[in-house]
Amino acid sequence: MTGQTEAAEALTANEVARIKADFEILEHQVNGADMVYLDSGATSQKPRCVYEAEQHYYENANAAVHRGAHTLAVEATDIFEQGRETVAKFIGAKTNELVWTSNATEALNLISYSMSNASLGRGGDAAARFRLGPGDEILTTELEHHANLIPWQELAFRTGATLRYVPIAEDGSLRYDLIDSLVTERTKLVAFTHVSNVLGTITDTRRFVDAARRVGALTVLDGCQSVPHLPVDVKALDVDFMAFSGHKMLGPTGIGGLYGREELLNAMPPFLTGGSMITVVDMEHAEYLPAPQRFEAGTQRISQVHGLATAASYLDEIGMQRIADWEEHLGALLYEGLSALEGVRVFGPVDAKRIGTVPFEVIGVHPHDVGQFLDSRGIAVRVGHHCAQPLHRALGVTATTRASTYLYNTEDDVKALIEAVASVREYFG
Ligand code: PLP
Repeated sequence: MTGQTEAAEALTANEVARIKADFEILEHQVNGADMVYLDSGATSQKPRCVYEAEQHYYENANAAVHRGAHTLAVEATDIFEQGRETVAKFIGAKTNELVWTSNATEALNLISYSMSNASLGRGGDAAARFRLGPGDEILTTELEHHANLIPWQELAFRTGATLRYVPIAEDGSLRYDLIDSLVTERTKLVAFTHVSNVLGTITDTRRFVDAARRVGALTVLDGCQSVPHLPVDVKALDVDFMAFSGHKMLGPTGIGGLYGREELLNAMPPFLTGGSMITVVDMEHAEYLPAPQRFEAGTQRISQVHGLATAASYLDEIGMQRIADWEEHLGALLYEGLSALEGVRVFGPVDAKRIGTVPFEVIGVHPHDVGQFLDSRGIAVRVGHHCAQPLHRALGVTATTRASTYLYNTEDDVKALIEAVASVREYFG
């Protein structure tokens, strides 16, 4: 179990309205209409308590952590490390298994560069599991955000390893039936997303983990779209690493995390090097601290950690299962409502388990025009390839319009979108 408290009852419309009131920005008018924010897949809005926590930190405890002997430095260090404890518990990890990064992108690059360093011999025998060379394989999927694809392309380039991928079927579902033949004795790393940022579909992680375990490959989960929306417990998921971003889960920008099993993190060579991550340095070498500090070179993001921990506590208090259920409900309304419109194509498998994220196309109208039309009605969605060009190519389109919900979205928000999309074709003739 994670530290997340699950309440039994479903979120009610009244409760969602009360939650919405914690987000000042959602009171905005855009182009003369009440703003409807359906772009949380890109970044979430922040409740008042998150930016107040950051402000409180700057007004009362601002100092560099882990360095000073003075009172403020001790207070800042306490806030920073308590934040780690809160967020680690939120994802079911031990405190020293959570490394702070700028975002999920940096977390994934950290693994990629650490493995390159191991491949150059850094970390000695202890780092043997992280070494790659010609003939070795990395497996990912066609569904990935570029952040969970390009770091592996680059790792393959730097080490001579081969990158392979699990393709998607025509409806966007993953070809699970091919995993067993794609994972071979040469597979060293299997990197896959927990939730597709485009389709909103939830991956059957067990299929990947079991196949990777069978050959002793490391597993990397991209939790960017799951940690904000579902109860996530890294121990129950049984993955070796997981990356996530604070700004998608009500936290500030500039902070994210990498979960790694303790014994793996301590055997991995560092990525960024410099101050605060060493024990002894002479002019020729340096000895590194254990995780997480060995991966946290330089002055850290203290107010952001405090803001993110406040966000995690806020989510935890409401209950992640209740949030997931509410979003599943909104996702079903979106999927059914948009599918029922003439001239609208909705992407993603009909029967999938999904979060409240749905991509669509208004046939004959460019997604950018759809986005602008919706904006003229105060509705914020995302248009483009959503950093997933291979997925779009496989779906036979270059761009889509994506509506993505969060705990502060109401059924009225979904209705407003569907009504507006219904009039797009009429508007563009
Ligand atoms: N992975 C997924 C599934 C995402 O949705 C995103 C962001 O949209 C990322 C990775 C990258 O996140 P960030 O830009 O915060 O590093």
